[in-house]
Amino acid sequence: MSIIVQKFGGTSVATAEKIRNAARRAIEAKKTGHQVVLVVSARGKKTDELVNLAAEITDRPSPREMDVLLSTGEQETIALMSMAIHSLGESAVSLTGPQIGILTDNASTKARIQQINTSRMRELLDAGHIVVAAGFQGHDRHGNITTLGRGGSDTTATALAAVLNASLCEIYTDVEGVFTTDPRIVPEARQVPHISYDEMLELASLGAGVMHSRSIEFAKKYRVPLRVRPSFNDGMGTLIAATPSNPPPVVTGVALVKDEMRVSLRDVPNRPGVMSLIFSEMAARKIPIDLVVQDAAEGGTAEVSFTVPRGDFADALTAAEQAVSKLGSGSVHHGTQLAKVSIVGSGMQSHRGVAAKMFQTLAEQNINILMISTGEIKISVLIEANRAEDAVRAIHHSFGLDQPFSSQTAEATIEPVKHNAPVVDAEREQEVVLRLANMEDIVVHDVLVDSNQARITIKNVVDQPGIAARLFAAVAEGGMMVDLIVQNVSQNGRTNITFTIPRDECQNCLQLIQNSLDLGDDVVLSHNDNIAKVSVAGIGLRSHTGVGEKMFGVLAEKEINIDLVGTSEMRMTAVIDRNHADRAEKALSEIFHID
Ligand code: ADP
Ligand code: ASP
Ligand code: MG
Repeated sequence: MSIIVQKFGGTSVATAEKIRNAARRAIEAKKTGHQVVLVVSARGKKTDELVNLAAEITDRPSPREMDVLLSTGEQETIALMSMAIHSLGESAVSLTGPQIGILTDNASTKARIQQINTSRMRELLDAGHIVVAAGFQGHDRHGNITTLGRGGSDTTATALAAVLNASLCEIYTDVEGVFTTDPRIVPEARQVPHISYDEMLELASLGAGVMHSRSIEFAKKYRVPLRVRPSFNDGMGTLIAATPSNPPPVVTGVALVKDEMRVSLRDVPNRPGVMSLIFSEMAARKIPIDLVVQDAAEGGTAEVSFTVPRGDFADALTAAEQAVSKLGSGSVHHGTQLAKVSIVGSGMQSHRGVAAKMFQTLAEQNINILMISTGEIKISVLIEANRAEDAVRAIHHSFGLDQPFSSQTAEATIEPVKHNAPVVDAEREQEVVLRLANMEDIVVHDVLVDSNQARITIKNVVDQPGIAARLFAAVAEGGMMVDLIVQNVSQNGRTNITFTIPRDECQNCLQLIQNSLDLGDDVVLSHNDNIAKVSVAGIGLRSHTGVGEKMFGVLAEKEINIDLVGTSEMRMTAVIDRNHADRAEKALSEIFHID
């Protein structure tokens, strides 16, 4: 008999009536011949209330006790839900995370699942019960209750669907499905009928709050068909599956993180090992970092900047101070009241002009871009927080996301090009997944080297709205496809923009920039056509802080200097000297056990 996992989020179980409605859905699914596992969240704003209550007691709650406290929210719902099912004449048994046997590591408040025991759930299902499982929680090896991080019930649901080999995992929530952006910010946002795991993973990890990003990792790793559905009507919602819709939309969605924090390490030594140290200090505290940008200055020093979520800011500053003291020189700076706006879409890999259009839209709104970082299927910019929603609205509109998808690519400014991005080897990915000792361990299935790129850097650009727009519009009009784009934090009103481009187009591109752009007198244009882009490919790489740590650790060990960094959930990329590419490939393949 096939198993269905249904998950109901907080709003969808907020009242007795809503609990009864959810119970009816589960019973319906059972009546159509499925075994049903119902995963539930804490009711309404319960988790927030508990967090606030703890804050009234202390500003430094013990993470262990925080988990004991927060897990009660879900425990309340499972009991009420089972009672509701009983009252409707069906049998149900509630189980907490520890009762199921969801074993996690001991990272309180952000625990990762290691193993899940299915025997008790299977016994209950085979005996005809609906299993009502508490989302968001598990226990560590010592029996301590742990929680999976805010929004973690989605992850419980997909993880249970994975171990039970469920035919479907349904996520019932308070919207019609996955939208092109948060409908609370842009009421014209459209529901997306179909989205790929990769697109959803990027969107979720870049701030689209509709799904916990780790739940998409589970879905992708274990090929769980996932459907996000409204709990308030019979809509079919959004299917999240292995492949994008056909043809893939250039931009599928826009995501926003409203309170991103910037951390900068200035005047640190410019030598191999700096990036490695930063990633390892952050990984030790499980802080995922994003928008990683480094900049070599005169006199052998460098500046590295990156962003972290607000919740990790204090820890990140401590970790950065630690790194500076280990390096022996440098100072830590930070920026607050910032927002990260990202666009995500599979079709981006095969269209040029996408970045130019995003930057152009921001320029038209007079929004200054403070940092840029791109990945295969995403472009992120850091801007002032007070313009965040304007930026989302304008970008959403300019990419035609309020229109049917087919009209997007018809635009002259965005052109299809030959798609030569390496195709992910799904078989190899599955081999790595099957070998994992723990369910949420890192999956790296490939090391890729691209030796056909060159790097162009434009230094000392006056930092004002419209610069990146003009630059990349000119490059796109010149028929060139840029790859990794990085813009540094500005100092004294000047910034540097770096990007990579196919090597055989480098000279043309330099000419084009010189001829068509008036960037001002102090601007210095430089290039390096002796670079290689080395990447590791896998699943959830930015969220798994250990990947950057390992990757940059091994490059430091080999004394290989890093020129540029790109991070995404699919790839972790370093631009290095081409002469070191073979050594880097070998060392990375070894450390990530890739034959
Ligand atoms: P639940 O309690 O069911 O887990 P969440 O509040 O975690 O629900 O997620 C649903 C909310 O996510 C929606 O109400 C919506 O405001 C927000 N959201 C953010 N981005 C998106 C998006 N791209 N598509 C749909 N909803 C989104
Ligand atoms: N109740 C938890 C939270 O609010 C988990 C969840 O809802 O997914 O974060
Ligand atoms: Mg949620």
